[in-house]
Amino acid sequence: MARLFESVRYLKGVGDARAKTFANLGITTLYDLISYFPRAYEDRSRILPISELQVDEPACFRAFVTSQPRTSHIRKGLDLTKLTVADETARLNLSFFNQSYVADNLHYGEEYYFYGSLNGDYMGYQITNPVFEPAQAPGVVTRRIMPIYPLTAGLNNNLISRTVGLALDACLDELPELLPEALRARFGLCDGVSAYRNIHTPRSFEALEEARHRLIFEEFFIFSVGLSLLRAKRSRKGRPPFAIPKIEDFEQLLPFALTGAQKRAISDIAGDLGAGRVMNRMLQGDVGSGKTVVAAAAAWMAVKNGQQVALMAPTEILAEQHARGLEPLLAELGVRVTLLTGAMAPARKKAIRAAIAAHETDLIVGTHALTSETTSFSNLGLVIADEQHRFGVAQRAALAEKGDNPHLLVMSATPIPRTLALILYGDLDLSVIDELPPGRQSIDTFLVGEDKRARLNAFIRKQVAQGHQVYIVCPAIEEGEDDTLRSAEAWAETLQMTVFPDLRVGLLHGKMKAAQKEEAMGAFARGDYDILVATTVIEVGVDVPNATLMVVENADRFGLSQLHQLRGRVGRGGNKSYCVLFSSNRNQETLKRLKALCKTNDGFEISREDLALRGPGDFFGTRQHGLPAFKVGSLELDLRTLQDAQTAAAEFAASEELPALEEYKPLMERIRALFASAEG
Ligand code: ADP
Ligand code: MG
Repeated sequence: MARLFESVRYLKGVGDARAKTFANLGITTLYDLISYFPRAYEDRSRILPISELQVDEPACFRAFVTSQPRTSHIRKGLDLTKLTVADETARLNLSFFNQSYVADNLHYGEEYYFYGSLNGDYMGYQITNPVFEPAQAPGVVTRRIMPIYPLTAGLNNNLISRTVGLALDACLDELPELLPEALRARFGLCDGVSAYRNIHTPRSFEALEEARHRLIFEEFFIFSVGLSLLRAKRSRKGRPPFAIPKIEDFEQLLPFALTGAQKRAISDIAGDLGAGRVMNRMLQGDVGSGKTVVAAAAAWMAVKNGQQVALMAPTEILAEQHARGLEPLLAELGVRVTLLTGAMAPARKKAIRAAIAAHETDLIVGTHALTSETTSFSNLGLVIADEQHRFGVAQRAALAEKGDNPHLLVMSATPIPRTLALILYGDLDLSVIDELPPGRQSIDTFLVGEDKRARLNAFIRKQVAQGHQVYIVCPAIEEGEDDTLRSAEAWAETLQMTVFPDLRVGLLHGKMKAAQKEEAMGAFARGDYDILVATTVIEVGVDVPNATLMVVENADRFGLSQLHQLRGRVGRGGNKSYCVLFSSNRNQETLKRLKALCKTNDGFEISREDLALRGPGDFFGTRQHGLPAFKVGSLELDLRTLQDAQTAAAEFAASEELPALEEYKPLMERIRALFASAEG
């Protein structure tokens, strides 16, 4: 495999400078380069006589240059080169803007292939800026299906395409086959070498489809097998079973009765903890379904068994809120709760870490600071990750590495269809809280434009007069980021100075220092502010039951699932709550999207809607689930292939012999490399 991992620097036409530019795309080796797949394809394989070219339908044609190219200077910075070409069916004018070099490359009387699309006006038809190459030359930019690559400054498509071609010629014969013959035959997959060849330089659209199918299967298969192996590895590990305390002791301290769904989730967890093997469980439940108290019950059980528990939250605000909220309840049960976040002063962090190492505290609530090298636990028995979609497989594994195979509970409010959950969280068992605490009323949601501003302000006053609190979410932090967007800083000031001078308006956004954020959030939670103007820093988990109105400015700038999360910040107490989405956007699609939110409060339904309207690319962006984004496959569109790959992966992982076979060696190596960080 000498060449496969050679630097792209040595390819013809690359060199040191361009190698750096390639590195910006994450490409350093030939293998990286041939794994850099096109994002689209242009059909330049159709060749038509000039007379059959259609307006706005790009195509290739073969023609002679029938006039000397002439360049004229139109105005500063704009040159126009014109010439005529002809075949036996018609003549045609070509125009090139700011490409005067074409005058040297297109010679009167010679024949070329062109590719472009016809545009017409009162002056007649013409083609602007066609690509071309001599008729005798092999087809590089014409007469083929042209791959279109994602670009970066300094690399154009032709350059990437040519360089990929060189890399394929240089190293393709060394490409390890990850999918053995038998597997390929069963699922109708082509071999790896032709797949790589045809994804870049497809002979035909059928060949391209075969290549895609194989590569999609491959990436899903690798991912699923990787997760299954992780799971198998963890669940084989034994742990002395916990003695499970009586749940009633816990429940009687709560100000409310647990819902049936919460009880079921707690008993799933108790079952795992008492079973003598390592728990790997995902707790899924819509916003406001009460996941925190389930986590508290799990923590209590572990602490009762002499263990430490780490609760990891994705933001400082959320970590602080959990620490603040859990302390009073758990203190009564004899659990010592400590907060640890990255923003704390170094001396304080050091002291807290010392206390953790000495087992002077039981439940440590924190941000990813918990995964840092310097945090070590004395006896970590349970790891809980809240709002799991914000963490990656690697982060949750890193935390699990802290103890001797601690139990793992991850919680998520992102509802995803079961088939997908199976793949994305294939290494986890699932408990679902499918029931909201009693007395929850649905949150009335309205989509309004600027004309309703005065009415909204009156409504805000009314909510505050009743002793309730209001969130106002803006898409931008500071003025000037984007003139069309409301900024939190400026809007908070306007509201305080001119609209609600008699009310208490607070401000919270991501650029504030941690201490300021803590202060602002704490003040709002205590009721010291009537209105909190914020950015989406409050998106996940924030719990202030007295807040009854959520206003979202420029609502069209947010995704549906995100808006649903924001809306979930209200309606958490017993009071009737409202959500007002402001948008002056008149786009029909956008309005349809936002109206979907007004119709339902059901997170599952909204995520389905979101998937259908936006496509899974956005929904499952890396930011959302923390997993490697699939390069070729789409979780929604390629569901069939996904299921095949899942089936094959399950069989593979369950088998004793298969993973040991020589022919699966390259696959196993690949998986090990990809999951290296997750396995620690
Ligand atoms: P999420 O699932 O979004 O994390 P939380 O755990 O923050 O939800 O709970 C939302 C609110 O519901 C909290 O104020 C919590 O105290 C309350 N709550 C949780 N369970 C119940 C219950 N069984 N009955 C009444 N209120 C509950
Ligand atoms: Mg929560």
